[in-house]
Amino acid sequence: PYGRVWNFAAGPSTLPVSVLEEVQRDLLNYKGHGMSIMEMSHRSKEYGKIIGDAEATLRRILNVPDNYSVLFMQGGGTGEFAAAYLNLFASKAVSEKQRRLGRQLSCDYLVTGKWSKGGLKEVARLGGKPNAVFDGVVSNTEAEPSVSYGSLPPVSSWKLGRPEETAFVYYCENETIHGVEMPSDLVLDAVDPSVPVICDMSSNMLSRPVDISRFGAIIAGAQKNMGPAGVTLVIVRKDLLERDDSDKEAIQRLPSVLDWRYFDKAGSMPHTPPTFSIYVCGLVFKWAEEQGGLEVLQKLREARAKLVYNMIDAHPDFFHGPVDKRYRSAMNIVFNLPTPELEAQFLADAAKRNIIQLKGHRSLGGIRVSLYNAMPLEGAIEFVAFMKDFYNEHH
Ligand code: PMP
Repeated sequence: PYGRVWNFAAGPSTLPVSVLEEVQRDLLNYKGHGMSIMEMSHRSKEYGKIIGDAEATLRRILNVPDNYSVLFMQGGGTGEFAAAYLNLFASKAVSEKQRRLGRQLSCDYLVTGKWSKGGLKEVARLGGKPNAVFDGVVSNTEAEPSVSYGSLPPVSSWKLGRPEETAFVYYCENETIHGVEMPSDLVLDAVDPSVPVICDMSSNMLSRPVDISRFGAIIAGAQKNMGPAGVTLVIVRKDLLERDDSDKEAIQRLPSVLDWRYFDKAGSMPHTPPTFSIYVCGLVFKWAEEQGGLEVLQKLREARAKLVYNMIDAHPDFFHGPVDKRYRSAMNIVFNLPTPELEAQFLADAAKRNIIQLKGHRSLGGIRVSLYNAMPLEGAIEFVAFMKDFYNEHH
């Protein structure tokens, strides 16, 4: 309907049509208040209900334990690369451990692609001590050793720091560019339980159930699976917000807009929040709940991804999927065609069938098809039918 296309963008990305319809319906006059949400004070009673409902719905669908805070912040995933480090180092837990050790703690980063690498680089930039637990997979099978991000090295080779010297372990569960996704338990089982795990779930949040209680904090930009750009979700275990106020230095380095505790104390509104984005996220959370929650969304995500991967595997000489089958992402599927010319042709022919935003990330090239919650199964079926036709014509 509405002349919409099949939009496979990696983010910002497609939203449920019913959510957009509701936004449209209420745009000029939100439920009889005579104004749009964009024009409404964040201190109004109506807005208080909107943000309160958004948080309550999210807590229900994700099953967030009471000892975790849910924060709506700004600054995107990138803002949280810095925030994760700065907040942890301002926490009582880290400052006490650091005092015992007598020197700076290091931060463990599992580098599985561009986004986890981005987190690591931010810590280095801010004067921290990041430790790459691994950085891609080093292959020595060719004449030159090469590093790739299509897989993960075996857990036995991970260079995790000693727990008493490590502030936190950080990983990105779904690498949006490289199409690598890992099960949470792989990391959580490998880490000493005394060390908090920080996870970037920007691109697979709400696509499957998660055991929140095993994480120190989860960060996620909204603009893939949750809503429009402009709001960033943080779920953090409350004890990590406790501070030792004698540790002035760490607190002085933490700007208020990145300060998790500052947001926690003020119900995510110590200052003006991205009101409209949070409102739309609230509608998406409600939509997710109406679909049947995360178990149902997980089944759908597996079904969509299976269609595309089956087509790739049926014609591996034509559709080259570089990612290790064990870690293939259900959210962002990357593949190459035999030549760059064919890839360009693929994009052009797809566009003629209203299938768009398939170009791989500018750093990687190739094809990337992103299959977030709001993509109906029908969209994946259309895409696979196109793949098949293209194969028949060009192989
Ligand atoms: N983490 C992941 C997994 C991402 O996919 C992205 C952006 N695509 C980011 C972090 C960075 O997010 P932002 O653009 O909101 O800063």
